[in-house]
This record gives sequence, C-alpha cells and structure tokens, in this order.
Amino acid sequence: MPSALETLVKILRLEREQGYKNTAVIGGLAGYATGWQEVAHTQARKPEHHAMIDEISDRLRTYDALENRNERHAVVSFVLDRVMRPVSTVAESLPQQEQPPKQRRPEEDERRHPDGNTKQRPPRERREANNGAPEQRPPEQRPPKKDKAGKKQAARPAPPRVQDDDDGVPVPAGIAEEDASRLDYDFIGEARVPVKRDLPPPPRLARPPRRVRNVVDVAQATDTLRGLKATVDKVRGVGTQTASQLAKVAIKTINDLLFYLPRRYDDYTQLLPIARLKPNTPATIVGMVRHSEIRIAQGGRKDCHIVVDDGSALINVTFFGMGYLLSRIRPNMQVVLRGITSTYRNRLQLTNPEWEELDPEDLQLARIVPIYPLTEGLRPKKLREAIRQALDYWAERLPDYVPEGTLERADLADLGWTLRNLHNPESWDHLHHAKRRYIFDQLLLLQLAILGNRRNWQSTPATPLEVSDEYVTSFLQAAYPYELTGAQQRAIADIRSDIAKPIPMNRLLQGDVGSGKTAVAMMALALAFGAGKQAVLMAPTGILAEQHYRNVTRTMEKMPGERKPVVAMLTGSINSAERERVYAGLADGSIDMVVGTHAIIQQGVQFNDMALAVIDEQHRFGVEQRGALRSKGRNPHLLIMTATPIPRTLALTIHADLDLSVMDEMPPGRIPIKTKVISPTGRERAYEFIEEQLKLGRQAFAVYPLVEASDKIEAQAATEAFEQLQKVFYHHKVGLLHGRMKPAEKDSIMADFAAHKFDVMVTTSVAEVGVDIPNASVILIDGANRFGLAQLHQFRGRVGRGGHASYCLLVCDSDLPEARERLTALEMFSDGFKLAEIDWKLRGAGDLIGTRQSGQSTLQLMDDMSPELVELAQRESRTIFEEDPDLHHEQHRLLAQRVNMLRDDRSDLS
Ligand code: ADP
Ligand code: MG
Repeated sequence: MPSALETLVKILRLEREQGYKNTAVIGGLAGYATGWQEVAHTQARKPEHHAMIDEISDRLRTYDALENRNERHAVVSFVLDRVMRPVSTVAESLPQQEQPPKQRRPEEDERRHPDGNTKQRPPRERREANNGAPEQRPPEQRPPKKDKAGKKQAARPAPPRVQDDDDGVPVPAGIAEEDASRLDYDFIGEARVPVKRDLPPPPRLARPPRRVRNVVDVAQATDTLRGLKATVDKVRGVGTQTASQLAKVAIKTINDLLFYLPRRYDDYTQLLPIARLKPNTPATIVGMVRHSEIRIAQGGRKDCHIVVDDGSALINVTFFGMGYLLSRIRPNMQVVLRGITSTYRNRLQLTNPEWEELDPEDLQLARIVPIYPLTEGLRPKKLREAIRQALDYWAERLPDYVPEGTLERADLADLGWTLRNLHNPESWDHLHHAKRRYIFDQLLLLQLAILGNRRNWQSTPATPLEVSDEYVTSFLQAAYPYELTGAQQRAIADIRSDIAKPIPMNRLLQGDVGSGKTAVAMMALALAFGAGKQAVLMAPTGILAEQHYRNVTRTMEKMPGERKPVVAMLTGSINSAERERVYAGLADGSIDMVVGTHAIIQQGVQFNDMALAVIDEQHRFGVEQRGALRSKGRNPHLLIMTATPIPRTLALTIHADLDLSVMDEMPPGRIPIKTKVISPTGRERAYEFIEEQLKLGRQAFAVYPLVEASDKIEAQAATEAFEQLQKVFYHHKVGLLHGRMKPAEKDSIMADFAAHKFDVMVTTSVAEVGVDIPNASVILIDGANRFGLAQLHQFRGRVGRGGHASYCLLVCDSDLPEARERLTALEMFSDGFKLAEIDWKLRGAGDLIGTRQSGQSTLQLMDDMSPELVELAQRESRTIFEEDPDLHHEQHRLLAQRVNMLRDDRSDLS
C-alpha cells in the first residue's frame, strides 16, 4: 500500500497536470487535507515528520479559497518541494551563526517557494545530496588549522569514503525513479530503510537566506569599496612573494582576489573508492602514490606513470608527454586526481587527469572543495588561505549594490553570502544559489551598461531614409528571381521602419545558414540608394566579399529606372590604382555602394554621404570595427547579420543595444542534409563514402579540430590529417586550409576550391563562415564531440548549397554515452535555433557566447547560466533602466559605480 505521502505526491502531480482546477480529488484538496493529515500522522516516525504534515495540511486547507492559478501553483509547488526535500526550509538548514534571529525577516519562512525552484536544480546534485538520512551536518565543525592528528592521518593512504549507490534501494511503484530517490524513505515505508553512510549529507537549502540590509550610506559604502582596490599584500598572510605569484593569475587587488572564482568543485562527500569505479566515467580519486616512473614512448616522448592506492585498490595513471611531473608527484604523496576512467588491457586507468596534492583538511571536512585555476608556483593551499582571509574580513562588509527589491523579486542571495559560498560552498544547494546570484549580477551589469550606451549613441540623430512603396515593389520584381519568404519580408519591413526614423538603426538580423540574408541585405542597400545615399556591405573575408560583390552587381543591374547604382569592391587584394579610383569615387559620391572587407574601414576611406552599413557575419568583427564603420558616415544606420543562431533571450541580453529580426523560415525546396554520427572505427567507411561522392564529381570538406581552442594545435591536427588523407584519396587532389595561414593565402585556397582545382579540403574551424561551394556535398568533422552543436551546425552549412543531396559525417571520439547522445541532436534537427537551445541546456551558454566574445572573459560561469536567469536579469535591468536610466536615484548609486567599473574594464562598452 502506498504511504500517505506517496499518494499525496501523485494527487498533486495530477492536479498540476489538470491545470490547478482543484479536480484531482473529489471534493477538492482542502477537504482532502483533513483526512490525509490524520492518516499521515499515524505513519510518521519522527518529530519533524509530524511538523511537516501539519504544515502541509495547513497549506492545502487554503487551496479551495485561492482565486487564481498562480497562487494554487505556488501551493502545489511548495508542498511537492517540501515532500521531496524534507529538511529544506531556510530556518533548519542555516548554520547557527548565519541567522541572528533579530535580523531575519519574520515572513521568511512563510514565503512561498517561487515556482521553478525545484526544477532549476540539476537532478544529479539533488540526488546526491538527499540520499541519506535527513539529519544535518552539525554546523562549523572545522578543526584547528594545523591539526596534528590531521597530519598523522595524512601519512596513511586516505581511507576511501564509503558512498552508497542507489542499487540496493527499491523504488516505490508508480513513482519515477528520480523522484523516488528524493523521497524520505525512512518515513514512507517500513521496508525502505535508508542505507547507512559514514558521512552526514550536506545541508539542504531551498532558497537563499537574506538579511535585512542596513541603510546604506553611499559615501561610506564608496569608502569601503575603495578599500577593495587595495593591493593583495594588504591581506593577512599574503607577503610580497605570494602577491607576485597571485599577480600571474591577474589577481592584483583585494577585489580581484574575492572574485577569483574556482573553475570547478570537487565533492569530497561523493568520492568512490577505486575498487568501485566503472570505466568511462568521470571520477575523483584520493589516494597515495605508491610508485612513479618515466616511460619513454615512441619518438622519445616521456610519459610520467604512477600507481595510486586508496586502500580499496590500485589504479594506473599515465600523464602522456609530461615527464617533468616525475619530480613533483613523488611516492608516498597523497594526491587528488580527477579525470575520466578508461580501460587498457582490461584494467582500469586514468590518463592525463588533473591532479593536486591533497590538503588533508579538505578530506577531513569532507566538503565541497573549490579548485582554482592556478599557475606554476602558486600553490592551491596558499591561494585558498589568502581567499579565506580576505573573505573573513570582507564578506560581511561588502556593500550590496543590487537593490533589495530586485533581490527580493528574483529570490537572490546577499552578496557577502554569495561570495562565501562561491569559494567554500556549504552544500550544492548553497553553491547553486551563490552561482545564481553571481551570474545574475553579471547579466544585470552588462545589460545596464549596454542599455546606457544605446541611449548615448541614439542621442545623435541619423538621417531618416524614406522610399516609396512603388520603388520597393518594382525593385523586388525586377531584381529577385524568387518570391521572398515571410521571414525575409518581415525583416525588410523592420528595416524600412527603422531607417525612416531620425534614430540610427542598430538591428541584428539572425538567420540560419541559407535562410537568405543576402537578399535582405541587398534590399537594405537599395533602400539607401533609393533615398539618394551611399551604402556599405562589409564581410569578414576577401572571398566572401567577392562573392557578395558579384551578387550585388548582378542584382543592382536590374534596378528599374534611369540610373543604376554604381557598385565598387574594396578588399586587401585589389591593386593600388584601383584602390585610388575607389577612394576617389566614394569621396565624391560617384560610387553608390561599396562591398568589401576591413579595407573599408581603413583611414584613407572617406564617404561623400554614407547613411547605411551592413555587416555580414557579425561575430567575426570586433565592436571597435563596428564603431569604425559607424564613424565613416554621419551616424549611419547599421544592419548586422549573423548566421550563428543564439537563443532569443540570450541574444536580447548580450546584444541589448541591438534590435532583433529573426529569420525563422527557409526558402522553399531545400534538401535537408543527411547527418550521421559515427565512431572512430567507422572512419574507413566514411572515407569510402567520400570517395564515392568524389567519383560523382562532388567535393568534400574534412574538418579537424582540436584538442584545445588554439590555432596552433588545430593547424597541427589539420596538417597531420592532410598528410594522411592525401594517401587515402590518392586518386584525387587534397588541399589544406588553416588559421595560421595569411589571409591572402586563405583566400586563394578558397578560390581554388571554389573553382574545383582540388577535391578535398582539409581544414580547421576557420572554414566556418558563409563561403559558398555549391559543388561540395559532404563534410566530415573529426572529433565532433568537442564542438558545440551550434558550431557544428555552422560547419554543416558548408554543404547542401548546390541542390545536390548532401551529407554530414560526425566522428565522435569520446566513449562517453552523453557525447554521442548530444551529437544525435544534429541527426534529428536541421534548425540552428533549436540546436542552440539544446546546446544551451546541455552545455551551458559558454559555446554560444564564447565564440562571439573571443578574448573577453567578462561573463563567467556561463555554463550555469539558465534561460530562466537570463530572462530574470533582463526584466530587472529593464525595470531599473526605465525608472532611472542614469542610475541617479539613491538606491542605484552603488549600482552605477559597478556599471562604470564594468565600462572601465571593457573598452568596447564605452
Ligand atoms: P545566408 O542567409 O546563409 O546568407 P544566402 O543569402 O546566401 O543565405 O541564401 C542562400 C541561397 O538561397 C542563395 O542561393 C539564394 O539565392 C537563395 N534564396 C534566398 N532567398 C530565397 C527565396 N526567398 N526563395 C528561394 N531561394 C532563395
Ligand atoms: Mg550569408
């Protein structure tokens, strides 16, 4: 028989599914609550269960009277949350000293759980943390720092922490496994006894705690903030030597130190003994080095080989090509290793794991240990200690710059609390809330900065451009051999209405590869011409510019009316006589349109009256280049085009200064590209397949990435592949293109490929942008698992442009099932936006933003950036901006300072 709690969970889920109409039980939930309460009490076995039952029944009894869906939703969510996470209230899980009773708001515990609070948390974390008995860890049981016992313990191999897996726990019928693992077994049924573990589970925290803030005196806060700019050697225990090591990782001030975030966290509460590790899974191992040696491999490479023992078993660990480690990893040293397990000759091994000398204190505390990015000579312990010292002083003193109302609405933690938990998370829940606040702040500041800029440049007027409907229609009819898609028409309408205003257009046109952005660009150019102005189309590479130039000339020749536009091309490869001619024509206005590359924004270029500029493949240009182009006209209208799909919410945040047109429709008749994920053993067959395509007269791309995002390593990988593929395709010609070549060289290779002077192009990620090789019908991407889906989709767009049936072969060289699963999304979807969304969910926003912010590391923790949070930050920043655009209000003064600090850091924002 299901327990009372199980039944309730089922009922509430049903209620949720039915849309909160109070139809899940006959007579309504309020009535049901009374009977349920009685039964549940008879089953309860601990005092806290009785308290929980009463709390739940009280909530449910209000249900019938609730007017709207949101309120009902809140109650259902609250109860489900309460049942799934029995010790989740703020009051219970805060360590004593964090909740001085007077400072806490009385309504804190009463507040409803925000919807989605349960959903945001990654299920894995939830499960890990909730598997055991619901007791909490006693607060703050840290031993004194230089504990002798600790040292002694360090001399023995670290005892493996026994960690229970879920195997032995029966799952209640009718409840999904994941949910079941979150239920309090002890309570639900006699048969399900919680498995003993030797570590108490980390505390739970359903929502971040917040203190009532002292009234901020801006002058005083400013003063305090100044203290943050002091150099790190002012921190206790940080001498000049440590300071100079810290400087190597760009930590110069106390502020730098406080905001130097771990790149990941190791959960010492979740260590598995070596004997229980499975192959092909990520693992963290703590053990003693039993043996170490250098092994000389083929070609003289020196590998460092060690054997690690954790008391349960031994494991072989090899660091390929890292012979120098031998002097650092010594026998009898306790180490922490983290990597992905694999097998070699039937034995488990780790290769090239991350490693660190164990700090016995971490193990003793069995806590979540922050792992910081380090540099040669900077020891983790030293860094952690410096951070701890800085936090001790600063965490409580930092004035919080985000308005309280915002924190309240977004359910975010205080700043000091956030910093403490980012560095030393008390539990995964704590870390979750801390990250949430931190990410929110970055998004908020970024957006406020961008919105401020937009307002600045919009205050300089632009020339309104107006043309008649007849002009547009006759151009459309004469110049385009096809009907425009709905998306193209909408984009054109957006542009027309933008440029008719005296405010400069700043529009982002996002459209998947092949969605027909060029046609829209062409219309934009024509609109400028129709209004008697000059216009520009700028592309990132010479070959793309030439392609556009041919298109534009061809199209503009068909312009109805007396005068046809005079079109010129300006790239790095035209001769100087021609260049002079173009310069002169642009300056005196005899040239109407210019298509080109960066050459357009060179010093010597002057326009007579340029009023509109189009930038293709925007992510290839820096913001400075956008600015340079803008300065060539009198605050011209800008149209920026990109084929890199990025989810709308994210786009609206990182491009808050741009208006967005999305081309979400493809021209008719496109043949979808057949996509297949293959394993490395399938390479030979893939080559055979490519060979067949070549025999049909088609061409092929072979993309070789990387191990790291480095031009050099990529180039190397591609060069090796080039040599190999020349042997494989010996009947055909193979060419090579990589990022370390000079632009002119790249252009000429692309041109040769386009002219079918060779058949197979071996290349790297440089081959991604809009080049048209209609005859190419197959692309092979080796090591595809290393790329984001959105980027792979870009690569895929290199083929299928000529009406031939086309193919994309993805070699997945990872054994992890997730890697392959992720790639299958490409087999299923051909919509770049859809893939970007999936990517966002699976890999975080890093891939999506990373490439377009190359060189800028302004946004951190992007992989934890959820759509929900992005939207929230967007809403809040707009609210603040609308109410107080200059951030002059008293409660925004500190915020204004932070926004200015961001502007100082990022020249592109000023
Ligand atoms: P992208 O958005 O990737 O720049 P292009 O502008 O290069 O795409 O367009 C891809 C192809 O689709 C071109 O060959 C173009 O002529 C064709 N095309 C564009 N719009 C249409 C349309 N409305 N109907 C049919 N074909 C179109
Ligand atoms: Mg294009």
